[in-house]
Amino acid sequence: MSLFSAETTIALAEPEAVLAPLCEHLVEHGARIAREGGEVAILLDGGKALLRSGTGELVVSITAPDLASLQDMKRAIASHVVEFAPAGERPTILWVGDGAAPSLPPEFRVLTVTGTELVTPHMKRIRLSGTDLARYASLEALHVRLFFPPDASVEPAWPMLGADGLLQQPPPEQRPAIRKYTIREIDAAAGTLAIDFVLHEDAGPGSAFAARAVVGDRIGMAGPGGRGLKPAERYVFLCDETGLPAVSRMLENLPAQTVGLVFIEVDGAAEEQQLAAPEGVSIHWLHRDGQQKGAESPLVAAFDALVWKAEGPETYLWSATENEAFRHIRAAARQRLRPGRDQHLVVSYWRAGLSEEQHAAEKKAAARAA
Ligand SMILES: Cc1cc2nc3c(=O)[nH]c(=O)nc-3n(C[C@H](O)[C@H](O)[C@H](O)COP(=O)(O)OP(=O)(O)OC[C@H]3O[C@@H](n4cnc5c(N)ncnc54)[C@H](O)[C@@H]3O)c2cc1C
Repeated sequence: MSLFSAETTIALAEPEAVLAPLCEHLVEHGARIAREGGEVAILLDGGKALLRSGTGELVVSITAPDLASLQDMKRAIASHVVEFAPAGERPTILWVGDGAAPSLPPEFRVLTVTGTELVTPHMKRIRLSGTDLARYASLEALHVRLFFPPDASVEPAWPMLGADGLLQQPPPEQRPAIRKYTIREIDAAAGTLAIDFVLHEDAGPGSAFAARAVVGDRIGMAGPGGRGLKPAERYVFLCDETGLPAVSRMLENLPAQTVGLVFIEVDGAAEEQQLAAPEGVSIHWLHRDGQQKGAESPLVAAFDALVWKAEGPETYLWSATENEAFRHIRAAARQRLRPGRDQHLVVSYWRAGLSEEQHAAEKKAAARAA
């Protein structure tokens, strides 16, 4: 098997003082560390880095089975050398070898709009094409980060990996806005995928892009992320429109003998979709009927009315909703079900009144406080 390789020599006043915390930190990210003669070997995601500290320098050489793993390892080493260098010392890093020229990050793709259709009045399907999509086709990781350029009339600019292996953002006026979406359909061999966008009031970059998208528009995509369903004797799904693309895709792919319940909150009958699901899975559409989104979600009442027998079948709960409903369902699920980590995924997909950046910042602050 041919290996990809890269090397760099980084001038550092005290290389050992950087090497020790770097290794410690990468262990937390799943790396294995070994001593090989006078060198430290770091094994991470198929890549291997050998690091040797000398007088005033750290010599790094990396080998990996593919370019993506090589770039990931270069980025992991470079970012932590910068992070752990003493205050005031800004190390200069210049990689030589494979992938040395500035490039898009390995997990990033540029997609071109090939078609649009209204699935329902407030759900727009955007069809896109791209290359090398195999990594996005897994049911274990359904969502991606989409990058929306600020203005369709200017040449889009994307984040790039520099000669130092680090991510460089475009200048602020060209920087794309980033939002999370779910891959609704994908055919990696054909190089095509589809994303279903909720068209909502107070449109941010995601909804605004979907509303105006025309064939030929370009967006960026990074990822994928998320967790797949675990095997269970019964499934319960709860979602509003934002979780509907994920639920639709999961239902299509469940084994034919699966049993379960699905509750989907939408505005009204016009927003219901035809879904493919195993026969033993019953789908219940819940209408807001003019109620404000995010307030008094009918999903909460549906969840509270469910009967969970202590000795009944092992149930997997999947829920993706607005933040208020999320908070209630998470608290109630913890009290009533006490599911293990592997038996549920209850998440907040958006928060009324907050953009995704504000919602993410709030979640981060809450996690830090906890
Ligand atoms: C893992 C994950 C997967 C997701 N998958 C999808 C998907 O496949 N399709 C999809 O449409 N959404 C999906 N979402 C939700 C989507 O990321 C958010 O709705 C996002 O805020 C939309 O971005 P925006 O730029 O349109 O609005 P933002 O700039 O984020 O927000 C602007 C305003 O719009 C409000 N707002 C945001 N979303 C909605 C909404 N749905 N209804 C009403 N008001 C809203 C905000 O509260 C804010 O006031 C997903 C979210 C996550 C976390």
